[in-house]
Amino acid sequence: MIDHCCAEMTRQADRRCGTHPDVFACPDALVRYEPKFREYGLIVHDGGSAYREIAFCPWCGTRLPQSRRDGWFDALEARGIDPWEDRVPPEFEDERWLREGPTDPAAPAGQDPPPSR
Ligand SMILES: [Zn+2]
Ligand SMILES: [Zn+2]
Repeated sequence: MIDHCCAEMTRQADRRCGTHPDVFACPDALVRYEPKFREYGLIVHDGGSAYREIAFCPWCGTRLPQSRRDGWFDALEARGIDPWEDRVPPEFEDERWLREGPTDPAAPAGQDPPPSR
């Protein structure tokens, strides 16, 4: 789980609607949080899945973390993975790839990440 800037953002970003499994189909959904890009956006209710990236929280005014969208593509490219053609590793489906160092919290810090399986 990610700590968002405030309770309202947490409520919105983690919002699950029982009626609309797809947040873009839910008229009450305001904010989209994309964990793998660490990106926040306002949902554009045009029937598609568009959102406008936002730099500040609409509720508390906190500056939101900068989108890592470019870094995501760079990191995949560094592994020789084409996100359009190849299967994206599971750690790239959410924010796990953004964590530096070993993915296992029990592993001692300062060591190389374990080899990918
Ligand atoms: Zn809904
Ligand atoms: Zn906030």
